[in-house]
Amino acid sequence: MHFVNLKIVKKQYLALGMLVFVVLFLFNSKPAFQCQFHQEVVGYLPTIYGITPTYSRLAQKADLTRLSQTLMLVKNFHWIVIEDSEKKTKLVENLLKESTIKYTHLNVKTNKAKHSTASGVEQRNLALDWLRKYLQTPEGAPGVVFFMDDDNTYSLKVFEEMRKVKRVGVWPVGIVGGMRVERPLVTDGKVSGFSALWKPYRPFPLDMAGFAINATLFLDYPEAKFSRKVQSGFQESEILKYFATVKDLEPLADNCTKVYVWHTRTQKMAILNPKKLKHPPINDDHIEV
Ligand code: UDP
Ligand code: MN
Repeated sequence: MHFVNLKIVKKQYLALGMLVFVVLFLFNSKPAFQCQFHQEVVGYLPTIYGITPTYSRLAQKADLTRLSQTLMLVKNFHWIVIEDSEKKTKLVENLLKESTIKYTHLNVKTNKAKHSTASGVEQRNLALDWLRKYLQTPEGAPGVVFFMDDDNTYSLKVFEEMRKVKRVGVWPVGIVGGMRVERPLVTDGKVSGFSALWKPYRPFPLDMAGFAINATLFLDYPEAKFSRKVQSGFQESEILKYFATVKDLEPLADNCTKVYVWHTRTQKMAILNPKKLKHPPINDDHIEV
């Protein structure tokens, strides 16, 4: 009898233990369920359309790898990558395919005959043509447009900031224009000027990485585009002039006191020419770098 009783008691303890375990499990999982529910049903997250011109060079894959692996962490992101080339390359195509990012792959070769040295003009304009059409389809979700060069450094925080944009949002950019930070100056929550040393007479002395524009505005202003007719450094002012005056700009990143994007530049690296070497290395042309 003694042993039977003990067995029953053991079973009761086991049942109680399991109950406690189930209760604890439910209690622990609850925030996760709530979180998912919040994001899918309650939370509306504007899409970010990131427009990136890119061209073939030694460090292209390294730069695009770093950028794409940042972008994989950004929700509701659509990457529009435009190659400066006659044809789309396998390198970029495979890099995009291997990422988990929603993307559109385009290409247009820069017309070198034109005197202007600005990069990315034709590529960004092609992306804007594509985007205008896409925004008028059922998949074309509202959001913001961000012009993002392929060798800059982007904190995830800059993407959080730009989802707040109503018309045009602005923020500081680190290590650009000969400065530690080039930034809009803010008084009483409004942009009152700029701290910029390079061509401070630019209508909008901002870097391309320092603003985002409500995507719908590109439908409202179908003529808005970049131009080769403007002097160097005026591409940002050229596109912004369609949408805003300085007083309309929305200061983000804590009233433009935080740096969440850096105009880093990848050093142009030289490699030895195997043809000129007495003892050339084993051929590695088949290896994608
Ligand atoms: N770019 C391009 N074709 C070129 C040179 C540059 O498509 O011939 C792209 C480049 O990949 C980058 C953007 O245009 O995404 C700006 O170029 P870069 O980063 O060289 O400009 P900078 O750092 O001098 O502002
Ligand atoms: Mn750059």
